[in-house]
Order: sequence, then C-alpha cells, then structure tokens
Amino acid sequence: MNPDVLIVGAGAAGLGAAQTLRACGRTSLVLEARDRVGGRIWTETIGGVPVDLGAAWIHGYERNPLRPLAEAARLRLVRSDTPDLGAPYRLYAADGREWSRAERDALEHVYADVQSRLEMTAAEWRATGQHNRSLGDALAHASVPDEWRVAVEYKLLSEVVHEYADDLGALSATAFDDDPTATLFGPHDMLPVGTGYAPLLSQMAGGIEIRLNQVATAVSVETESVTVTLASGEQLSAPRCIVALPLGVLQAGLIAFAPELPDAQRNALARLEAGVLDKLVLVFPRVQWPLDVDWFGLLTPETERWCQWVNLARHCDAPILIGELAGAFARRAETWSDETIVGSALSAVRRMFGADLPEPVAVRRTRWLQDPFARGSYAHLPPGARASDRDLVAAPHRERLFFAGEHTYRHCPTNVHGAWLSGVRAATHCLG
Ligand SMILES: Cc1cc2nc3c(=O)[nH]c(=O)nc-3n(C[C@H](O)[C@H](O)[C@H](O)COP(=O)(O)OP(=O)(O)OC[C@H]3O[C@@H](n4cnc5c(N)ncnc54)[C@H](O)[C@@H]3O)c2cc1C
Repeated sequence: MNPDVLIVGAGAAGLGAAQTLRACGRTSLVLEARDRVGGRIWTETIGGVPVDLGAAWIHGYERNPLRPLAEAARLRLVRSDTPDLGAPYRLYAADGREWSRAERDALEHVYADVQSRLEMTAAEWRATGQHNRSLGDALAHASVPDEWRVAVEYKLLSEVVHEYADDLGALSATAFDDDPTATLFGPHDMLPVGTGYAPLLSQMAGGIEIRLNQVATAVSVETESVTVTLASGEQLSAPRCIVALPLGVLQAGLIAFAPELPDAQRNALARLEAGVLDKLVLVFPRVQWPLDVDWFGLLTPETERWCQWVNLARHCDAPILIGELAGAFARRAETWSDETIVGSALSAVRRMFGADLPEPVAVRRTRWLQDPFARGSYAHLPPGARASDRDLVAAPHRERLFFAGEHTYRHCPTNVHGAWLSGVRAATHCLG
C-alpha cells in the first residue's frame, strides 16, 4: 500500500490522526517504535488485575471527545475525582495520626488564601512581563504561616507538582495553568475499572494500519513527498507525514529533520519541558487500609515525598495501592534499585496504615523519563515558556509535514484527549 499519509507514533495523537483520515476516506500507515500501541497509555496485568501504568483517568468525561469510543468499548466507569475537585480523601500526619475533617477544612481555608496570593503575584508579573519567574518564586512571596507550611506544601505537591509533573521552581508562575480543560470538557473524572484503558485503546486503534517495532530516525521533506527513515535503514515515503512523537524524544534530537525545523519552532521546542510523574504499584497479601476513599495523602518528611496514594483496592477487588512520584523526587527515584524504592515507599505506607503492614507480594514501577520512547511523562510550561509555544511546535511545513502530541495542544495538554485532538487537528490540516 502507498499511504496518503505516514504517521510516526501510535500514541493517542497518532491514532487520533489516523482515525480522522480514515473517516475521510484517506489511507495512512502508522509507524510505531514499541512492540505495542498506546505509548503513554499502557495497561498491564499486575497481581491478576489490569493496572494503568500511564494514563488511568478519563478527565472531563461529560464532553470528552473519547466518550463515544469509551461507550463503544463498554467500559465500566466509576466517578473518581481528585481531592482538588472536592473528592473525599484521608490525610495522615508523618506520625500516622489521621487529620480530622475540621483540620482538613482549616487547611483548605489556608490553602485557598495561599492560592489567591499566588494568583495575585502571577497577575502582577504577567502585567509587568516577568515571564521568567517560577511558581517557587511566587510562593516565596506568599508568606505561608509557619504552622501550616508542611500541610500547604502537601497541597502544592499533590495538586500542582503531581498535576504538572514538576517542582514549583520548574513551573512558570505566569503560565503553568494556562489550560481551560475542566471548563471545556466537563468537571468530572472517570476511572475505567476492571479493565483499565485497554478496551478504549483497542477502539482508538481499531481499523488502523500500524507497523510495530519501527523506530524512526529521520524525516525529510521533499518537493512532492516526505520520506521517513527507520533505524533498520528502510525508507518509506508518502505525500504527507504527521510526526506524533513525545516532546522528550524530539528534544533529544533523535529525529533528524531535513530541512532543519525553523528557528521559531526549535526555540519553542526547547522552551517547553517534559516533566516526570511515575507510578509504583504495590500488591499486598490483603487490604489493611480504609476502602471508603480513592486518595490517601501523607504529610511527608522533606526528603522522600510519598505524599499521594491511589487506593485501587476500592475499585478492583484486589489489595493494590499505587504511589505517585513527581518532579525531582521522581527523577531521583528512577535511578534507585527496586529494593530501595520499595523500602522507601513501604516506610511511608506503614506510617499511614501501621508498622505491621506486610511486604507486598508483587511490585511494578514506571520509569517514564528513562523510557527511550517517552523521555518524560507529559510536558509543562517552565519559566520563560508561554502557552503559545505549544502552537509554535505544532506549525506545519510546506503543507507536507504536520505535528501532533499532547505537548502541541494548548487547550488541554497533558491529557489523552488533548493528544487525540492534536492528532485530529493535524489530520484536518493534512486534508487541506
Ligand atoms: C504516569 C502518567 C499518568 C497519566 N495519567 C493520565 C490520566 O489519568 N489521564 C489522561 O488523560 N492523561 C494522563 N497522562 C497523559 C497521557 O498519557 C498523555 O498525554 C498521552 O497519552 C500522550 O499521547 P501522545 O500520543 O501525545 O504521546 P505518546 O502516547 O507518548 O505516543 C507517542 C508514540 O511515539 C512512539 N515513538 C517514540 N519514539 C519513536 C520513534 N523514534 N519512532 C517511532 N515511534 C516512536 C512511542 O512509542 C509512542 O507510542 C498520564 C501520563 C503518564 C506518563
């Protein structure tokens, strides 16, 4: 087959592009480096249960563009909002004492005050063009009361650092939350239970021609066509090409573009940053913790930030907890041995649920930063970057080369549906 369009990368973006072309009667061939489709959607069976090691929630479900596919996949969905959307959670002090409802309410009050000070500082810096300032800089101006410092830090870790996958010092004060996802798509998050994302991914990839184990190394735009060179030396050509690769892969220079990408695009690519959010899945012999909430928070000591735990046992009838790690802590932990990371995590979990919590019977961890085909979890705007940089990195070339990927979609980056829509957009541009 000589496809109308070559697509590099079979993640949500590449698949969204391929389905759009297919719906318009155009042919495509998707080239994927891994031996599986999905990229940062990755469901693995752990302890007998399908667990999502990448994307797990379908955010903003009400008007999410993937909703029709989720319905066709007959997913069993439960509502699973995050605590910042008002979902109940349990919060534990470092000594294991659980905070009362009144204490958590008081914390919300203090945190709302800190947030409004951060927003005021950011507004002032925006107005005076100080786009090089970080959220960490803004926090230094927020004068958090000493007695609340640890708890406010917990809120910032769980709601900002984990959400944007990097530390406050690495996030732009003026632009980090330039993302209207919730209002665009809907206020609630849904969790596919029993299967994870896998059936939805099958729908996303259904009917598409995909070649696995094909590592692209070069893309050259010629007068009449675009040629993709693979690590095997094979070359494939088509009238058009959509590059749907992660930011980290492009930043690492793993794809040689000919001609070189324009300065404006290369500079914008350099300004964005691939953050890190990793997961540590622990399967225990039995459930020895409360089953009434999705989230556990721990007010951790400084060095090991195991502040956020997902209670998968609540939904899957298996004794599973998932620890989430983000930013500098995740980068550091990616270099740890399995023994070290599990030991560190267990000391945190035992603070919450008792020193007699047994050793896990199965463990699975991610290393999204070290993953050669991801090189990060998702992209954010560091100091100096602007939301418009996401448009610049998506700029097409000579009406032949187009770009997609979560990092290119300013309306809802970091999400599966943002990646999918970026693919729909690239395919639409391709169609002219
Ligand atoms: C831990 C974690 C949790 C997340 N949680 C959520 C969540 O709950 N909900 C949500 O909506 N989003 C979540 N996300 C974000 C979401 O997974 C991503 O935004 C989205 O899947 C990215 O899709 P993409 O197509 O842009 O990139 P990818 O999925 O990374 O697809 C790019 C593809 O390109 C391939 N590739 C790389 N290099 C080459 C090469 N040289 N040649 C050929 N192919 C190559 C890769 O293997 C990959 O398949 C999470 C991400 C992570 C890491």
